Amino acid sequence: MSAETFSTRAQRAAYIDRRLAELYPATPVPLTHRDAFTLLIAVLLSAQCTDKRVNEITPRLFARADTPAAMAKVPVEEIQAIIRPCGLSPQKAKAISGLSRQLLERHGGEVPRTFADLEALPGVGHKTASVVMAQAFGVPAFPVDTHIHRLAQRWTLTNGRNVEQTEADLKKLFPREHWNALHLRIIFYGREHCTAYACDGTRCEICATLFPRRTRAVKTRK
Ligand code: SF4
Repeated sequence: MSAETFSTRAQRAAYIDRRLAELYPATPVPLTHRDAFTLLIAVLLSAQCTDKRVNEITPRLFARADTPAAMAKVPVEEIQAIIRPCGLSPQKAKAISGLSRQLLERHGGEVPRTFADLEALPGVGHKTASVVMAQAFGVPAFPVDTHIHRLAQRWTLTNGRNVEQTEADLKKLFPREHWNALHLRIIFYGREHCTAYACDGTRCEICATLFPRRTRAVKTRK
């Protein structure tokens, strides 16, 4: 029998970090992109939409315009027609057009490399900014999406009061240099095992290892 115990958050975090690195040694970025701008647009489109669908749509959008200068010239209605299958297309089209203009006017046509500047762009919240900082610029960040929020609660790494609290708790528990790969690994694991409604909290390998005596589902907060 293993001598390892998992009674503290830090012990559970160390096990999760190690096990996920074994399970997912490679951490390819799920959204197809070619630079910071196309990643920013893809992340914006992924709100309430699957990465798979975003990847089906972006080739057409980027064939039409793949720089802020080109995108700023495309009529919003045309952007909206292309991205419609992603959902929330009126808001997303407006944001894509508006942020392209702002990048031209305020940032010389480049995607800025600070959280403050990114979060000042239309349609860009902290999670989107975190993904861009991590995946386009390699700056350690911990974007918390629904998978991460749910898993962090089921693995009792946080009480999950809200995504801000979950992000702060996870950042305390894991080494900074692991954040970028780890956040993707948690997403990969969540997609494979941990769907919103289907699990009783006892089934998959990590829960079974960390909580061998668990008998009932963990209630998670959104
Ligand atoms: S046992 Fe279920 S709830 Fe726990 S992480 Fe695995 S899939 Fe998710």
